[in-house]
Amino acid sequence: YRAKEARIHYQFYNDLMNEETAERLALEQDLTRALERDEFVLHYQPKVDIATGNIQGAEALIRWYHPKKGLIPPDKFIPLAEETDMILQIGDWVLRTACEQNKKWHTAGYTDLQIAVNLSAMQFGQTHLVDRVAHVLHQTGLPSEYLELEITERVAMQESVTVIEKLQQLTELGVQISIDDFGTGYSSLSYLVKYPIHAIKMDRSFVSEVIDDSEQALVVKAILSMAHSLGLHVVAEGVEELGQLEFLQTYNCDEYQGYYFSRPLPAPEFEVLLAQHLVR
Ligand code: C2E
Ligand code: MG
Ligand code: MG
Ligand code: MG
Repeated sequence: YRAKEARIHYQFYNDLMNEETAERLALEQDLTRALERDEFVLHYQPKVDIATGNIQGAEALIRWYHPKKGLIPPDKFIPLAEETDMILQIGDWVLRTACEQNKKWHTAGYTDLQIAVNLSAMQFGQTHLVDRVAHVLHQTGLPSEYLELEITERVAMQESVTVIEKLQQLTELGVQISIDDFGTGYSSLSYLVKYPIHAIKMDRSFVSEVIDDSEQALVVKAILSMAHSLGLHVVAEGVEELGQLEFLQTYNCDEYQGYYFSRPLPAPEFEVLLAQHLVR
């Protein structure tokens, strides 16, 4: 009797796996065509200066409008794209589109606006990364100091000469580097001193508990004071409530992003916010 039950379970599990694999394969197939079919779009989430309340920039976040499945968030397809080299083409598209968009905003009079772009590990690892970035800046006419590249701790952590070299070359180009999801990577902190980094982006998980958990609050204060004594900017991710913002204000966090101010928005809606919150 038990054997039969086990078999049924196994069968069920197997069917589920096959279904998942099939779905994944289908998605992967669709992904290869998404670029040429123009199915990607960038949304922009404001990065707000905590002291002044001004929008100082935006983070470009990719979305995929699947013709049948509708909107697919990046967590569902970026990892897939990272398994093949599709991420390189997608990453190139994101970089170019984001720089083009920011150039348009500059032309419209928002001449201090920064744009931040996420780089995947593979993208950062590609041989000609620095040339590609320089090329895109040249093509779009966006001054390099208005581009910021976000890399995760995991990428920065790889103790390799090429990581430092690339970061230095990017910095020499005038591009700013920030560390995304800071605090989630179990990394040593020594890279913060050694690398030319402009800012750390404190992961949402820290911000979310700052009010209810006094120990978490201590951790956030410590991160802020450490980063500041190293001359780094701190951006808080995922601010959803006024109380969190006030805490960050009190301890001199530099910038924040989060639903409290705005979700990531399509470019036209971002422009409406800009008109309200940025002194030209
Ligand atoms: P990330 O770079 O850490 O981006 C922040 C994520 O947090 C975004 O999710 C954003 O929508 C979300 N978020 C912002 N404020 C809040 C808030 O107040 N509450 C909550 N709950 N969430 C908030 P999204 O857009 O789904 O992106 C997820 C991740 O996908 C990004 O994390 C980034 O790692 C990756 N990603 C997005 N766009 C790109 C891209 O163009 N290239 C690469 N390589 N990765 C990307
Ligand atoms: Mg990011
Ligand atoms: Mg982040
Ligand atoms: Mg995060």
